[in-house]
Amino acid sequence: MKKVFLACIASFSMLSVVNAQSYKYTLDVNQIKNDILPVSLVTPPQTSKKVIFSLPKIIPGTYAISDYGNFVDNVQAFTAAGKALPVKRLDVNRWEISNAHHMAKLTYNVEDIFDTDKKHNVYPMAATNFEENNVVLHYPGIIGFFENQGKLPFEVTINKPTNYFAATSKTPVKTTANQDVFDFTNVDDIYDMPAMYGKMDTVTIKVGLTDVLVAVYSPNGDIKAAPIANKLSALIQGAKNYLGGKLPTDRYAFLYYIKGRGLKQSFPPGLSGALEHTTSSFYYLPEMPAAALENMIVNISSHEFFHIITPLTIASKEVKEFNYDEVVLSKHLWLYEGATEYTAHHVQRKAGIDTEQQFLNKLSQKVTGSLLQYNDTLPFTTLSKSAATTYADQYGNVYQKGALISACLDVYLLHLSEGNYGLRNLMHDLGVKYGANAYFNDDEIFDEIGKLSYPAIKDFLVKYVAGNTPIPYAEYFALAGVKFSTPSSKKLIIDENASAQAKFIREKWLGVDPVMPKN
Ligand SMILES: [Zn+2]
Repeated sequence: MKKVFLACIASFSMLSVVNAQSYKYTLDVNQIKNDILPVSLVTPPQTSKKVIFSLPKIIPGTYAISDYGNFVDNVQAFTAAGKALPVKRLDVNRWEISNAHHMAKLTYNVEDIFDTDKKHNVYPMAATNFEENNVVLHYPGIIGFFENQGKLPFEVTINKPTNYFAATSKTPVKTTANQDVFDFTNVDDIYDMPAMYGKMDTVTIKVGLTDVLVAVYSPNGDIKAAPIANKLSALIQGAKNYLGGKLPTDRYAFLYYIKGRGLKQSFPPGLSGALEHTTSSFYYLPEMPAAALENMIVNISSHEFFHIITPLTIASKEVKEFNYDEVVLSKHLWLYEGATEYTAHHVQRKAGIDTEQQFLNKLSQKVTGSLLQYNDTLPFTTLSKSAATTYADQYGNVYQKGALISACLDVYLLHLSEGNYGLRNLMHDLGVKYGANAYFNDDEIFDEIGKLSYPAIKDFLVKYVAGNTPIPYAEYFALAGVKFSTPSSKKLIIDENASAQAKFIREKWLGVDPVMPKN
């Protein structure tokens, strides 16, 4: 309920310090009133007379238009002496400030998205919540930046009640009972680091050298962090093994928001989900019996965790030099979402968490889901490019057919290499080639994959990912001694009569990994 909007920020102290080349934000969680968070910013120096301040239209990982500016109101700019400067709203996400070379401070109000009355398309796992006991800080919905100054560092001071826990993978540079200070290298960094404040249940586990935080906000306290951490521990241990013995981060945070039953929020009924970040992931999940929820959490957490590989390490220019103001998507969602979804389940088989048949059942469901609900002749690259617009209704296929593309690629690679080189080897090599700080060009990646592996793999991608030919699944699964139970069925089973060669490939594909020494 929003009854009163704060008219303005009451007062602020005169600025005596010269502002450095950085953003200095203060978020006072104690001042949240009627779902409004007052934000104040000591601005970086400006040389132009006019500057544009904006919040994102779209953020990485969502493939949908968010328009976070919708929730920002009452933007005011001031000189160091406290004199107001002209501010003009240009559109939903952008404000123009005049005489900006005299600007020292900016203030505005942010309304939270979870229970807004406004119409919007923000996914709950990328939305903000300002409630008593739970504050979800998804910074794209709170923090803005000036045009051409997105690369400057950000300092964010968060004032909070003393009984609030702060769950985030970011280590504060300063922390007291009622204040945390965080430094971020640039706007990409801050948008990649959500935080959940408030009352919650938390557990930290150690996997190898990595500290893994599990934080759960459950309104009635039914869902606890410990049993989830227990299940995740086996999964992350499996992931470490799967990735060759070392996890790619020293810290990781799983942030779970459980929506109370009957609680009215602004999202379409039944919508839940999760969003990946480089060292954390945020989950918006419905309240359900703990055992069912814990199983769901393992699958979805595995998916978000493996985004560390794609697109957070291996990605194209569209992802690595992200444009927050316009929708510019890559053609390769088969890689970012599809390969991630496949790996999320493959790792559970390779770690022995799932049986062979359980893994095949998951693939079978994807065959059925993909063929029943989506257009099988729409080229996947075309779907990707317009996933936020023309083909938004086909987006869900990235988790179905997208994963099957990777399953077929994995089997085909193992077949061509006689069991020596599978999809995870290819992902490893792509990771080495591009790393976290470089990107590939959309139109070159098939050639690169062909060079790193086999020309036949490039041909597969051209025909079945960029082309409109449906994948003949039975043909590819047969290479690993797996078949549909009957010619018309979509249930995958082990083919006991497969050739010795196919059985050998099947063992490479589905056999449990030897456990690496613990470290
Ligand atoms: Zn994903």
